Amino acid sequence: MRIIVIGAGISGCSCAHKLSHAGHRVTVVEKGRGVGGRMATRRMDGARIDHGAQFYTARDIRLQALNNQWCKEERVVEWYDQVPGRTDIPTDMRYRGKTGMTGPAKSLTQGCSLALNFFVEKIERTTRWKVLEREGEGRALEADHLVITMPSVQMLELFDRSSVNLGNEPMNRLDAIRYTQCLAILGILDRPSRLIHPGAVTHPAKNIDWLSDNQVKGISQRPAITLHTSAKLSQTNWNVPAEEWAPELLASVEDQLGARILSWVPHRWGFAKPLVTFGASHLHVPELGLTLAGDGFGGERVERASISGLEAAEAIFGKSF
Ligand SMILES: Cc1cc2nc3c(=O)[nH]c(=O)nc-3n(C[C@H](O)[C@H](O)[C@H](O)COP(=O)(O)OP(=O)(O)OC[C@H]3O[C@@H](n4cnc5c(N)ncnc54)[C@H](O)[C@@H]3O)c2cc1C
Repeated sequence: MRIIVIGAGISGCSCAHKLSHAGHRVTVVEKGRGVGGRMATRRMDGARIDHGAQFYTARDIRLQALNNQWCKEERVVEWYDQVPGRTDIPTDMRYRGKTGMTGPAKSLTQGCSLALNFFVEKIERTTRWKVLEREGEGRALEADHLVITMPSVQMLELFDRSSVNLGNEPMNRLDAIRYTQCLAILGILDRPSRLIHPGAVTHPAKNIDWLSDNQVKGISQRPAITLHTSAKLSQTNWNVPAEEWAPELLASVEDQLGARILSWVPHRWGFAKPLVTFGASHLHVPELGLTLAGDGFGGERVERASISGLEAAEAIFGKSF
């Protein structure tokens, strides 16, 4: 069967991997320049910075199987299991990409075709699915089955543009999915920070959920921070220029870092973590040849998003793992 997976985040890539291993011809369509979605790494002034998901866990046996492969390919490494002085935080091993968080998605898509820089404007169903690009090259792809893995808000916008209606009950459940927002700051330091392994601190100051130095983390030659603000601050300041809220936050962590922040850029994550989910790991509509997955279905975090993609694949080819 020819299958198109829209979205190259961890859910789409996990689904595509499982389907291509089952013998299907899979194309992953992604609006961005590369794979990974919210597992994102950015280069900035000679630094490498993980600016979305920082790590993942592999508690589920299916994730462990994938993770073993990523470790073998040297795409990921163990990062840390215990946070010094924080007995309240679970001790599961956290894994990170060896050179950034996109490693797992790169591994998973090895057996698939990739259509990158392809913003899906519209989907059309006749006897097969047609997937149409917004602008650019005006590409059009066809498939027997379609998997969609973008955040639910973007999914509903796509359905609206394409006049797709799945019926009241599933549409209402899709509409009810809610995500937090996250305002992030990526910054270059003037010297190595004072942070010790793992190079990350949770809640280091008011309104900050996460602070890490990507050099201590092991992915950047140059000391460079990732700062994630709290959901509350992000929501309040979503439309406020970063120059108005970021300097105070950055000043509040410089002592802890033992370094000055030379330059910084903001990043807005519109869909950080799902607060309300669909209530099932995926939605499979065999009569339409359509399956929906992602963390809005599977639940918060990389591991659950990946399982959502794997279970979506299982629903399509109808076999147990
Ligand atoms: C700031 C932040 C920190 C986080 N920290 C952690 C963490 O430390 N550990 C953890 O486990 N989880 C963390 N998470 C959550 C984790 O990143 C997500 O749960 C997971 O990556 C979601 O994967 P996904 O495949 O469901 O969605 P995504 O990664 O969002 O993938 C969806 C893809 O669809 C693409 N797309 C959207 N619209 C279109 C279109 N029209 N055409 C083509 N492509 C389209 C997008 O570009 C994207 O690549 C964090 C998230 C954020 C934002």
